[in-house]
This record gives sequence, structure tokens and C-alpha cells, in this order.
Amino acid sequence: MPIDATRPYDDENVFAKILRDEIPSRRVYEDDYAIAFHDINPQAPTHILVIPRGRYVSWDDFSANGSDAEIAGFVRAVGTVARAAGLVAPGYRLLANTGIDSGQEVPHLHVHLFAGHGLGPLLV
Ligand code: IMP
Repeated sequence: MPIDATRPYDDENVFAKILRDEIPSRRVYEDDYAIAFHDINPQAPTHILVIPRGRYVSWDDFSANGSDAEIAGFVRAVGTVARAAGLVAPGYRLLANTGIDSGQEVPHLHVHLFAGHGLGPLLV
């Protein structure tokens, strides 16, 4: 069920539980600002999710209310994950669903990192 990006943060959402290590994930990266793990239902040969450690519902919430340090740290983390996975030369795609019309389902900001042959042109 898509979520309203203006809703308050829910500490029981699945990514909050992953951050607290209450449910398992296949982590590939973590630092002071972000963690990254494999999507449980991959839509591409490589499908990684990068999330900030802070309590932000969506890209809108984060860009409006995140500190400069959190935003810079998160953006750097996304790039670091892609480089560490060797994805820069072959290329990759980033996506951040935000709110109802986008189909966002998990109410904690996440950036999808897709890579692999056959991503094709971007279709909305
Ligand atoms: P959204 O539609 O942009 O909110 O994407 C949510 C993503 O989270 C989907 O691609 C799901 O497959 C993924 N997902 C949901 N639960 C888990 C989990 O427990 N571990 C890893 N990925 C998850």
C-alpha cells in the first residue's frame, strides 16, 4: 500500500527494524550516516537500497529537515556504495520513490540502486 510522504515517522517500519538489527538484512555498507543492503525482491541484477540512519519518511522529509551533514553524508554514501560495487564504469540508476503516486511502500527514505545488463531506457 503506497504511503503518504507527509505522514509522521513510524519507528516500527521495516527499515527502522533493519537499522536496529531487529530483522536481518544483507548489508553491503554502513557508516555514520547511511546503511546499504540488498533488496529482498530484486528488480535488476544488482538492486541495493541505501537508507539514511536518521528518521526520515521520504526524500521530501529528508531534503527539508535533514541537516547539511546528514544530506552530504548520505549522498556520499550512495556514491561510495556504487563505487565499492564496481558499478561506475558499467553504470547504474538511482530511484527514490516519494509518496502515493510513486508507489513508495516503506516509510523510511530509501534510494534504490539498480545495475546490470538490460536496465533499458528509463520508463516512468
Ligand atoms: P518502495 O516501493 O520504493 O517503497 O520500495 C520498497 C522496497 O523495499 C521494495 O523494493 C522491497 O522489495 C524492499 N523491501 C521490503 N522489505 C524489505 C526487507 O525486509 N529487506 C530488503 N528489502 C525490502
